Amino acid sequence: MLFGTQVKNSLGHLEIGGCDTVELAKEYGTPLYVMDEQAIRLAMRGYHQAFASRYKRVKFYFASKAFLSLAIARIVLEEDFCMDVASAGELYVALQAGFPPAKLALHGNNKSDMELQMAVDTEIGHIILDNFYEIEQLGAILKSSEKKIGVLVRATPGVDPQTHRLIRTGQADTKFGFNIKDGSALQAVKTVLQNPQMIFQGIHCHVGSQLLESDTHYQAVQIMVQLLQSIHSETNAHVDILNIGGGLGVRYVAGHNPPSYDTFAETIVSALNSAFNDEDMRPELHLEPGRSIVGEAGTTLYTIGAVKTVPTDEHGSTRTYASVDGGLSDNPRPQLYEAVYSCILANRMDAAEDRKIAVAGKHCETDILIQETQLPLPIPGDLLAVQTTGAYNFVMASNYNRFLRPAVVLVNNGTSDVIVKRQTLEDLISGEVIPARLR
Ligand SMILES: *Cc1c(COP(=O)(O)O)cnc(C)c1O
Repeated sequence: MLFGTQVKNSLGHLEIGGCDTVELAKEYGTPLYVMDEQAIRLAMRGYHQAFASRYKRVKFYFASKAFLSLAIARIVLEEDFCMDVASAGELYVALQAGFPPAKLALHGNNKSDMELQMAVDTEIGHIILDNFYEIEQLGAILKSSEKKIGVLVRATPGVDPQTHRLIRTGQADTKFGFNIKDGSALQAVKTVLQNPQMIFQGIHCHVGSQLLESDTHYQAVQIMVQLLQSIHSETNAHVDILNIGGGLGVRYVAGHNPPSYDTFAETIVSALNSAFNDEDMRPELHLEPGRSIVGEAGTTLYTIGAVKTVPTDEHGSTRTYASVDGGLSDNPRPQLYEAVYSCILANRMDAAEDRKIAVAGKHCETDILIQETQLPLPIPGDLLAVQTTGAYNFVMASNYNRFLRPAVVLVNNGTSDVIVKRQTLEDLISGEVIPARLR
């Protein structure tokens, strides 16, 4: 599978954004995160086009937790997306990138006073409220600041998406949001309405991630529309915004076939239109895609080192392990939730993929990046490109085993720019102190 601007060039090398990955590896070293700028932009344009032709009022919030850096925030802004942040750190990076506060929304199931204060002080667009404690917290902060802020109320629609159990969030039994069935969501709205410093704007839900069909979103919209209508009838409040979260899946392996932007838009808009015959009653629709904006746009380049074949039974079966110069520290997802990936031998794309290979990371853990894939027999020094690593990789990177966090390079039209520098050995101890008694 090739994604975005990926092609095989005349040398049989993988090229991304017009840049030969073999050259990128030489210039910047490995492991290296490569982000395809065109692919990121086209994903955002895909959302815009699919929805703009079907629905009057729609806004997109990039879920920055999928991939956030100063440069990526600039691209998001240029493509007319707003942005979700879910921590003081994400809010800080967004503001440092020059993202207009009014286009930011703050999420989180346990926001600290400091995070809420920062959101109020910098006058972000709105806060998505998650629980009753937070309504009190925010109330107290607003009282002392004498400011007002927009809020959405996050509800759990109680639908159970077909995705890995660790990335479901829309079912009733979840730490996120207010339960609809037991009346908590409605009660939360009533509480908010009593506070003149909270501007109630609407309701939110997010049902899960890496969803490969749109049924769950369809059901969620229907349930949220009912909530919207009961809020209106019970409180007479105007629910201006309906945010249905993110969650559209991406292609990690050949069997993954997420709906197209058009199919996805058609599903959601048809659910809305059938609920509101009167166009003036239709809420402003908000979506929060993360993975589907950056996932397929990212590729991780590794250099292959040790290659060994081990017997797996007494009948002569074997498995060949190719070890790469990264792993768990730059991509924890296989260990976190058995995530699967595809890869390409980037320096020898013409060689026959006639071997079953397990791709191993180099950490002192099981650390297998890919359990089984078809590749040419790798030799030490080969360049391996693991695909679809743009979402939830760089942002989840750690320094486990004191590995350096890889650099991120943005490629476009034959140009490559480092947007995040590789960490240095000095960076590893930059925050460390030896107490005097140990010197
Ligand atoms: C993570 C998250 C998203 C983005 O999910 P993706 O699966 O990456 O599209 C959107 N909204 C909320 C509230 C989230 O927590």
